[in-house]
Amino acid sequence: MKTLTPFKFIGLVTLINLILYYYPLFNYVFENLNITSFNGQLTLLSTVVSILVISFFILYLFSLISSKLLKGFSLFMMIANSIALYFTLTYHVILDKTMMGNLFNTNTAEATAFYHPKIFLYLFFLGILPAYFLSKITITKVTRKKLLTQAFTILFSGVVIMYLNATTWLWLDKHAKHLGALAVPWSYTINAIRYQVKQLKKDEKQELLPPATMHNNEKMIVILVIGESARAENFSLYGYKKETNPYLKKLDVIALKHVSSSATYTTASVHSMLSYTGSTSDNFEPLPSYLQREGVDVIWRSTNWGEPPIHVRTYEEGNDLRSECKGEGCDYDEVLLTNLDKSIKEAKSNKLLIVLHTSGSHGPSYYEKYPKAFEVFKPVCKTVDLQECTNKELINAYDNTILYTDYFLAKVIKTLKEHNETPSLMLYASDHGESLGEYGLYLHGTPYTIAPDVQKDIPFILWLSEGFKKQKGLEKFKQSNDYSQKNIFHTIMGAFEMNSSIYNPELDILKKK
Ligand SMILES: [Zn+2]
Repeated sequence: MKTLTPFKFIGLVTLINLILYYYPLFNYVFENLNITSFNGQLTLLSTVVSILVISFFILYLFSLISSKLLKGFSLFMMIANSIALYFTLTYHVILDKTMMGNLFNTNTAEATAFYHPKIFLYLFFLGILPAYFLSKITITKVTRKKLLTQAFTILFSGVVIMYLNATTWLWLDKHAKHLGALAVPWSYTINAIRYQVKQLKKDEKQELLPPATMHNNEKMIVILVIGESARAENFSLYGYKKETNPYLKKLDVIALKHVSSSATYTTASVHSMLSYTGSTSDNFEPLPSYLQREGVDVIWRSTNWGEPPIHVRTYEEGNDLRSECKGEGCDYDEVLLTNLDKSIKEAKSNKLLIVLHTSGSHGPSYYEKYPKAFEVFKPVCKTVDLQECTNKELINAYDNTILYTDYFLAKVIKTLKEHNETPSLMLYASDHGESLGEYGLYLHGTPYTIAPDVQKDIPFILWLSEGFKKQKGLEKFKQSNDYSQKNIFHTIMGAFEMNSSIYNPELDILKKK
């Protein structure tokens, strides 16, 4: 019987894991990465470092609870990995959240159809044998303090190495779904948990908001456009030196200044935008569901994801709309405008809310987010391998997405103008900002307290129809100084002349003070 320290045991388990079960992952990496380039090699290094750090750190957490748990999990991991490898290699499935959901929902008859005697070979040679070998090892006792120190030293070194390799994040982010699904055992354990959490959330009852009264039944259209990864800094409406808002600047829009997002990632930000408390995680019914229940007709259209559960009359995704869509814009956010005019005409209530959840400037492949005609700032970065393009080219591609957003919003306003018999309002706010290489950071999602301003400063733009201004007595609009995503809920309630105990006129931007 062999005796090992927790560090050596964890190292051994990680090594066996990499050697026996990571063939599909590295195969994927080599197929999708230009390994002859320097950045390709750096990216490979980042991939290996992330795998090692994640593996070491999680196994250390187990060892902190007890060495029995560490050992038990390691044995389970060998057995489960061997089966996962069989499925990955035989059926080319990836064990993402959807696939884990399929597994949970498959009945045994369907499941047995997948089995082939070959699975027992995998199970024996790649599962039971290594597990038996590990079971013979005794782990020595080490103080918790020492374990904690080792765990955090590894985590810290990993974070430093990843930060120094920040240029490789774009590639990792682009392939994250695939890599995550191939990184056993974390792929199936984490995705199984994610799937179960999603199921629980689905069943969890949202707390309904108190009944509201409508002051009138006059017609009103509100369109809320939720942006994606758009930062105020790159809008010429906010003083950017490149002309990224040629359309909006000709329209009478109000660009609210100094608006910060509630979070730096989509799900939390969108949650906050639709919550009456502005919280990123409460359990109250979101604005669209509330309005729908209170008699407003609500249409939700999305080319994005990550919103809280929404209960509205019409819920349409880009793919549902595409078959009816005409033109080059159908592969981009413009698909959300398919038959929008018709939907307005056929509204089921005098009060209509349309939410358009766009995919806007979602990285890292900014160059794929706009039609060719919007490639105005050139040259653009057409790869996620930053070694092959300059920061300027990356920013050019990003700026083109803003240019396209500008056009998209102008098109929304044009549609509302065509219905000028009905007072209308458009609100556009991005979910969060984006880093484009400042301080060596890319993309978004940096913890809020340390995130740079570019990840938090968002565009928040309003357009009011003449009828709207007249109805609300808003010929002159005076900007105050502290707007946030919290204002959206109350401003839209106010626009519909709705009142209830949760309505806060202080947060209603368009309430005449
Ligand atoms: Zn987002």
